[in-house]
Amino acid sequence: MQRLIWNSVRCVHCGACVGQCSHGAFLVQSKTGETAFRANECQACKRCIPACSYGAVEITTEHTVDGNKSI
Ligand code: SF4
Ligand code: SF4
Repeated sequence: MQRLIWNSVRCVHCGACVGQCSHGAFLVQSKTGETAFRANECQACKRCIPACSYGAVEITTEHTVDGNKSI
């Protein structure tokens, strides 16, 4: 199974991925204005990958969720 991995360290919270995600997996937190990733909502459609110019999202077949922020 493919999973999207979000690298919160590389993320600059530009929000470009949010507009590409129709599943609500990427969203902007209202309190902080920062981007957050909800791995449980992600369908691994990969649309957000080309939107990220910072290499903060990648697809893996591993079951690792390190780096994903829970909100
Ligand atoms: S892979 Fe698709 S569903 Fe998952 S965060 Fe990116 S755009 Fe959203
Ligand atoms: S497009 Fe990349 S850098 Fe911008 S908010 Fe999304 S993950 Fe972070």
